[in-house]
Amino acid sequence: MATALQQITDRLISVLHRTSQTINLHEPTLKGAEWKYVKDCIDTGWVSSVGSYVNRFEQHLKKYTGHNYAIATTNGTAALHTCLQLAQVQQNDEVLIPTLTFVATANAVSYCGAIPHFVDSDPSNLGIHVPKLRNYLSKITNIHKQQCINKTTGRPIKALIAMHSFGHPANLNPLSDLCQEFHLTLIEDAAEALGSFYRGQHVGHKGLMSILSFNGNKIVTTGGGGAILTNNESLAHLAKHITSTAKIPHAWQISHDQIGFNYRMPNINAALGCAQLEQLPNFIEKKRTLAEVYRKAFADLPYAAIFTEPEYAKSNYWLNLLMLDKNFIHLKDELLAQCHLSGIAIRPAWTLMHQLPMYCSMPRMDISMAEELIKCIICLPSSVNLLDNINKQ
Ligand SMILES: *Cc1c(COP(=O)(O)O)cnc(C)c1O
Repeated sequence: MATALQQITDRLISVLHRTSQTINLHEPTLKGAEWKYVKDCIDTGWVSSVGSYVNRFEQHLKKYTGHNYAIATTNGTAALHTCLQLAQVQQNDEVLIPTLTFVATANAVSYCGAIPHFVDSDPSNLGIHVPKLRNYLSKITNIHKQQCINKTTGRPIKALIAMHSFGHPANLNPLSDLCQEFHLTLIEDAAEALGSFYRGQHVGHKGLMSILSFNGNKIVTTGGGGAILTNNESLAHLAKHITSTAKIPHAWQISHDQIGFNYRMPNINAALGCAQLEQLPNFIEKKRTLAEVYRKAFADLPYAAIFTEPEYAKSNYWLNLLMLDKNFIHLKDELLAQCHLSGIAIRPAWTLMHQLPMYCSMPRMDISMAEELIKCIICLPSSVNLLDNINKQ
């Protein structure tokens, strides 16, 4: 009988119909009006900070996600930085973030001079572990004048960033309750979750503000780009204002009323984004089909299973995850090596934030669940066009 390692590899190959061609983890699909819209920017000269595609892109995002406001930015990290600024996160404040996230979440907190405070994960949805965090906060914080104070460090804990890991919505209702209980501003890092729904509503509505990313590896790309989503009118106007250098609108005067950022998305990127958003429903359908094909391929193996969406969610399945059974995590390194040799770009999840050199001395709760979880996760190739490419062969 084939070894466990061989059986897992065979299942992967059965889905991917490996050829001599390398199979990347995630590549963009640019088969719509991308060329037409980008060419239009070049033909008309409107490639930069002014032009109609930015507005059109924002309108489309609002309509799709159901938000009242969408503000396009240069990237998701800039969008997060802006949200934290608008949430009044200041020097020496603490911000709760999952240790299981991409480094941008922690970096955006640092850009404000604030301190990321790392939180454990819930293995059932890969988001923040709410009961465990509540228990922790009850022990280490005091509420003083409507502010949550960390008794250990003496610093205010201002906000909590929920992250929707690999496109799977975190459990937003309990998270939102927890934030109210402890006077924390909730921000959603939905960088990976465009097209994911929580109890029937697009993610991003529970946070005061939320962000998306349109980096090249995300479900929809603008080359590089991001967006802020919110239902709060004054925050939306401020977000637009400070991401466009805080320039006071005027026909010819150039003046600014505060320190702003040059975080506005250029028109040429938005043109790409408009073409991509037109294809989003189709992308989601293909992602969900691929997830189902993977799920079936591994259904009867005792060593590993495909991660499926939480019962309250409809996920975009941005990246499919193979979860090794905890008795087989020793196979991980060899599996990674073997697949890379066969031209299949599988990956482990990110290094946990509290293990990175610049963040290892930051405050954190007991992180044992995330540490166990991370050992099991293998990210599988999940490009939108993967099944098309396979069917063509
Ligand atoms: C991609 C990503 C970001 C940052 O987006 P960029 O557009 O690359 O700056 C932030 N958070 C998470 C969880 C991400 O996956």
